[in-house]
Amino acid sequence: MLENVLEFFRNLPKKNCATCGETIEEQHECYGNHCDKCSNL
Ligand SMILES: [Zn+2]
Repeated sequence: MLENVLEFFRNLPKKNCATCGETIEEQHECYGNHCDKCSNL
């Protein structure tokens, strides 16, 4: 059911930067465990 799919994505834990704890945006997934700022250091 569609509602179950929406519920699934809503319950997905957000990624957090391993360095500063900042929430990582979906499009930055390629940076792994670090946010935009920390991966540029
Ligand atoms: Zn960071």
